[in-house]
Amino acid sequence: MKKTDVLIIGSGIAGATAALKLAENPHRRIILITRAADPHESNSRYAQGGIIGRGVDDNADLLVADILAAGAGASLPSAARILAEEGPDLLQQILVKLGGIKFDHNEDGEIEYGQEGAHSRRRILHVGDGTGNAIMSGLIGVLKNYPNVELLTEATAVDLITYPHHSPNPLAAYDPISCHGAYVFDNKGKSIHRTLAAFTILATGGIGRIFRNTTNPPGARGDGLAMASRAGARIVNAEYVQFHPTALSVPGAEGFLISEAVRGEGGVLLTPDGRPFMENYSAEWKDLAPRDVVARAIHSEMETHGYSHVMLDVASHMTAIKIKNRFPNIYAECKRVGVDITREPIPVVPAAHYFCGGVAVDEWGRTSIQNLYAIGEVSCTGLHGANRLASTSLLEGLVWGNRSGNDINSRLSLDHKPLIPGRDDIPAWDESGLTKDSDPALIQGDMQTIQNIMWHYVGLMRSGELLSRAIRELRHLQNETETFYRRTKLSDGLIGLRNAVEVALIVAQAARHNRQSRGCHYRVDSVVGGDRLL
Ligand SMILES: Cc1cc2nc3c(=O)[nH]c(=O)nc-3n(C[C@H](O)[C@H](O)[C@H](O)COP(=O)(O)OP(=O)(O)OC[C@H]3O[C@@H](n4cnc5c(N)ncnc54)[C@H](O)[C@@H]3O)c2cc1C
Repeated sequence: MKKTDVLIIGSGIAGATAALKLAENPHRRIILITRAADPHESNSRYAQGGIIGRGVDDNADLLVADILAAGAGASLPSAARILAEEGPDLLQQILVKLGGIKFDHNEDGEIEYGQEGAHSRRRILHVGDGTGNAIMSGLIGVLKNYPNVELLTEATAVDLITYPHHSPNPLAAYDPISCHGAYVFDNKGKSIHRTLAAFTILATGGIGRIFRNTTNPPGARGDGLAMASRAGARIVNAEYVQFHPTALSVPGAEGFLISEAVRGEGGVLLTPDGRPFMENYSAEWKDLAPRDVVARAIHSEMETHGYSHVMLDVASHMTAIKIKNRFPNIYAECKRVGVDITREPIPVVPAAHYFCGGVAVDEWGRTSIQNLYAIGEVSCTGLHGANRLASTSLLEGLVWGNRSGNDINSRLSLDHKPLIPGRDDIPAWDESGLTKDSDPALIQGDMQTIQNIMWHYVGLMRSGELLSRAIRELRHLQNETETFYRRTKLSDGLIGLRNAVEVALIVAQAARHNRQSRGCHYRVDSVVGGDRLL
C-alpha cells in the first residue's frame, strides 16, 4: 500500500503538467502512474500538427470565436475564454522556458505559425510534424528532476477508491461521493496495490481504440472514463466523437494520421479519379472546413461512388524540399509503405480521433466526485462542444493540468484538507481463489468485436436502429466480460477490455439518446437538423 498527497493517473501532457505544477512545492508528495512501459507513450506523443499559440495578427477574442464556431453551438464560452487567455502564456512558461521545447522558426528567426482547418489566423506552433514527441520529451525530462514525484510505469489503475463504496462506516452512505485514491495493478509483479491519496487526478486520455479505424495508439481505450463512470461521476457529451478526415489507407500503416496541417499548407482532397470535391460541401472553407464537415464529405463521396478511400494531394502544392522539411515523419512513414508524397497523392480515409465529451469538470478540473479531478482528453471542460477545433487539445491539457495543480495546491494549504484513509479503512484487493489466467487471444477477439460494432453502428453516420443494435450487442458482451472478469486473474488487457466495453456502451447510449445532429454527432434520422450537415 502507498500513501501520497496526490495520485495522478496518466503521464501525457495533462498529467505531466499537473505533476510539474504540484512538484513546485518540495513538501508535496506526488505519485504519477502510467500503464505504459515508457512514460512518454500516450496520445500526446503522437500529436503532429502542433499546439495553439498567439499568431502575429491574433488575439484571444479571435481564438474564442473560432473555437465556438467549430464547436457547432455546443462549446462553453467561459471554457474557450480561459483557454484563449491563459494558454499562449502557459505555453511559453511551461513548454518553452521550463521544458526547453524549441518550436520551429523561419529563416528570419521568427516563430513559424502553421495554419489548420477552421482557424481564422495562422497560430499553430509546431516542431516539424513531431510536436507531441518534442513536448513529451521536454515534460518527462523536467519531471525526472523532482525528487517529490514518484513516476511509476507499467502501473494500471483498475478502479477508483471511493466512499461510501469502500468505506467501513455505514453512515458514509449519507455523505457525498468522495475519492481517496485507486487500486493499481503492477504489471511487473502481477499484484494489486492500494494507492491512497488526498486528491486523485484522472489524466488517462481518450477512447479512440474502441473503434476499428482510429489514429489513436493502443492505450486509448477509455480506462479513466470507465472508472469514473463506475464510481458515479457525471459524464457529458459522450456522443461527440471526432473522426479525423485523413488517416492513411495503405496496408501496414492503417490509421497513421495525415495531419490537417497538410491541408493547411495547401493540400487538396481529390476523388481517386482526380476530382476536387470539398467546394461542394463547404464553399467558404473548402478543404479547411471543420473536421466533422470534411470527414462526412469524404464518407459521402466514398459511399456514393463506392470508393475505398479518397486522395490527398500535397505534391502539386508544395515543393519536395518544403514537404520534407515541414512533414518529415509523414514523408518517411508514407515512403515506408510505398507512397512518395512529394510526387503522388496520399490515399486517406476518416478514422476515430478525439473524444470531445468526457468526465464533466469545472474550470479547475473538479469532477462531481469530491477530491477527484479530471484533466485532458478524459475530461469534458465544455471547450470542444460538438466538434473540437484543431490543435486545441494539447493546449487544453496544459491549461487544465496547470489549473488542477493550482487548485489542489491551494486546497492542500488549507487546514481542513482531506484526510488520507488508513490501511485498515480500505479493503485490500482480493484475488484469492482465482486460478484462471486470462487468454490474450480471447481478449483481442472481444476487443475486435467492440471495434467493429462501434465502427459500423456508432460511426460517422448514425441512426436509432443502428444504435439500438449496437447497444444490444454491447450489453451481451458486457455481461460476458463481467463474468469472465470475476473469475480470472487480472491483467492489463483484461482491465482494458472491461473498460472498453463500458465506454462503448456510454458512447452508444448517449448517441441514441441525442436525436439531434450536431457537430461530429450525425444522425441520418435527426429530428432537428444541425446547421451544417452535408
Ligand atoms: C495521431 C494523433 C495526432 C494528434 N495531433 C494533435 C495535434 O497536433 N494537436 C493537438 O492539440 N492535439 C492532437 N491530438 C490530440 C492530443 O494528442 C490528445 O488529445 C492529447 O494529447 C491528450 O492528452 P492527455 O494528457 O489527456 O492524454 P494522453 O496523452 O493520451 O495520456 C494518457 C495517459 O494515461 C495513461 N493511462 C491510460 N489508462 C491508464 C490506466 N488505467 N492506468 C494508468 N495509466 C493509464 C496512458 O498510459 C498515458 O500516460 C492528436 C492525437 C493523435 C492520436
